[in-house]
Amino acid sequence: MNAENIDHIGVAVENIDQAIKFYQEVLGMKLVHFEVLEDRGIKVAFLTGQNGETAIELMEPINHYDINNTVAKFLKNRGQGLHHIAIKVSDIQKSLEELSGKGLQLIDTKPRKGARGHLVAFVHPKSAMGILLELVQPQE
Ligand code: ZN
Repeated sequence: MNAENIDHIGVAVENIDQAIKFYQEVLGMKLVHFEVLEDRGIKVAFLTGQNGETAIELMEPINHYDINNTVAKFLKNRGQGLHHIAIKVSDIQKSLEELSGKGLQLIDTKPRKGARGHLVAFVHPKSAMGILLELVQPQE
C-alpha cells in the first residue's frame, strides 16, 4: 500500500455543535464541511487549521441510544475521544486487496461511499496496532 498522507483524524463527540465551537473558538480552526450521514447514523464535521492539510473529523451519533450505531457504542463504552485515523490512498480497492493479502482483518472488504462523497473502508484495530484505520480515496 502507498499512504499518501493523513487525510483526517476521527474524533467521537457527545455534542457536535459544542465541539465545533471549541475547535473554532478555542483552537482557531475552520469548519470546512458538515454533513449528516443517514446511512451511518451520524453527523460529521471536518475542520482544519488555517493552512488546511490534515482535518479533524468530529462525529456525533444522530441517536445516542441506538445500540447498533458504532459511534454511539463507542461513546457509551469509552467516552469522547480519538476514534480513528484516516489515510489517503489513490487506489482503495487495490490497497484493500493488498492488506487482505497480508492477513489484515478488514471491516470493509469493499469500499463504500463515506463523508464528502469519498470512497472509504475500515481496517480492524486488531490488525493495525490498536488503531481503527480508515482508507480514503477522494472522489473528484
Ligand atoms: Zn473518518
